[in-house]
Amino acid sequence: ILQVSSKVKSSPTWYSASSFSSSVPTVKLFIGGKFVESKSDKWIDIHNPATNEVIGRVPQATKAEMDAAIASCKRAFPAWADTSVLSRQQVLLRYQQLIKENLKEIAKLITLEQGKTLADAEGDVFRGLQVVEHACSVTSLMMGETMPSITKDMDLYSYRLPLGVCAGIAPFNFPAMIPLWMFPMAMVCGNTFLMKPSERVPGATMLLAKLLQDSGAPDGTLNIIHGQHEAVNFICDHLDIKAISFVGSNKAGEYIFERGSRHGKRVQANMGAKNHGVVMPDANKENTLNQLVGAAFGAAGQRCMALSTAVLVGEAKKWLPELVERAKNLRVNAGDQPGADLGPLITPQAKERVCNLIDSGTKEGASILLDGRKIKVKGYENGNFVGPTIISNVKPNMTCYKEEIFGPVLVVLETETLDEAIQIVNNNPYGNGTAIFTTNGATARKYAHLVDVGQVGVNVPIPVPLPMFSFTGSRSSFRGDTNFYGKQGIQFYTQLKTITSQWKEEDATLSSPAVVMPT
Ligand code: NAD
Repeated sequence: ILQVSSKVKSSPTWYSASSFSSSVPTVKLFIGGKFVESKSDKWIDIHNPATNEVIGRVPQATKAEMDAAIASCKRAFPAWADTSVLSRQQVLLRYQQLIKENLKEIAKLITLEQGKTLADAEGDVFRGLQVVEHACSVTSLMMGETMPSITKDMDLYSYRLPLGVCAGIAPFNFPAMIPLWMFPMAMVCGNTFLMKPSERVPGATMLLAKLLQDSGAPDGTLNIIHGQHEAVNFICDHLDIKAISFVGSNKAGEYIFERGSRHGKRVQANMGAKNHGVVMPDANKENTLNQLVGAAFGAAGQRCMALSTAVLVGEAKKWLPELVERAKNLRVNAGDQPGADLGPLITPQAKERVCNLIDSGTKEGASILLDGRKIKVKGYENGNFVGPTIISNVKPNMTCYKEEIFGPVLVVLETETLDEAIQIVNNNPYGNGTAIFTTNGATARKYAHLVDVGQVGVNVPIPVPLPMFSFTGSRSSFRGDTNFYGKQGIQFYTQLKTITSQWKEEDATLSSPAVVMPT
């Protein structure tokens, strides 16, 4: 944990040797540009999911510490908002370079705390980095609009301005990418930011904060607190916070959306999913099976865009045995072990929940074609591993279909026609992502047109949009009206000020008061 690349210019103060009696390192808070030890008496253990060893402790920040973090954001706001957009862009340009130089170090922290394979952890950082690169195009994205001569001597123009202090609450599954969806976009617009990373995986965010400081972000522009419910309630209720970005489960997201909105904030909440891959019999079989297996089991299924449900249409149902063979060949191991295809689940509780959902499939009449519940990984017997699991004969009323499993489990449904498949997808409450596999353009077009899901892949299993677009999950997968990153991200973190301006020639004076509505 304490080994950090020499490329990081300052000492690794975000994850320090403990002041406790035990030797477990503690994660610091980041307040006013300093990494500070919390005075809290409430701490949460951080585990390595491959071994379940305690590798660190994260504090539940005290009220005084959270107040200090907000005060710091608030103090830093006026000067940062007044800093020219070109200077803010320069900070982000340096930041993207430092992230690139330290990508492997950030990835190592992710694998240690979250469990995913190193290659996948590098992808996690890379997809966040792309948002930072996109944020560098702020100079044109922040431009307002103008309309000259709307009447005699009168012009109309708008400015896009920052909101003030914004906050982010992140989940455990993408420790770098998701925080990077949040604070770089908010800050480049001139806001200051209070970040609460997932209490299970805080390390990557701390390193990213250090790199941002090294890039020249002034003290107080980013502050970091840790904790769970109290920290979340603090963020929802604090009147100095103008907007909240949330990514995580529906339970937390709906609560935060409701409570934050009640306190007058903008809230964008990306939440859970059940993503369907519809396989047509005319699809390229080799590609489709490989894509399905990769997207269902990669990251141990702990991705909101995991393709967790296959809908095999017509003759495509005959491909099931081959699907099982491919899934069997995946190597389950600790994320830092060479050749690992998927790592462990985040906690023993997550493993138990996933195993219970597999059990429910058997009880409710589905068939387990591949069962990963009893897997043993040599040398990591205490890890939270579940091997690739495939459940077939699944019906829409079964628990394993209705619940987001968030593990390496693919549930398989069968239909005779594309229309039936579309009906199944549209009847499911979630609308995060979906994919169709076909070689027929008209079929692909029909699917993309009729399916009521916010992100659609055509022969692309995980259609997460690049950051010049926005992440557009819909229905139960999203609350709010303005999405993460892209133009929508800029809209979320800014407000418009519209100025109507009249400059008359000196001799053009009003002869009487204008008491009627101007037309
Ligand atoms: P989670 O909801 O448990 O935690 C997310 C954040 O909310 C954490 O910071 C946590 O401290 C806080 N939190 C947890 N429970 C809370 C509660 N009851 N009240 C208030 N705050 C609470 O989510 P997770 O387990 O870390 O992440 C997995 C979930 O996130 C999955 O459902 C996944 O689909 C979803 N997710 C969605 C997207 C997306 O873009 N749609 C991306 C990644 C993950």
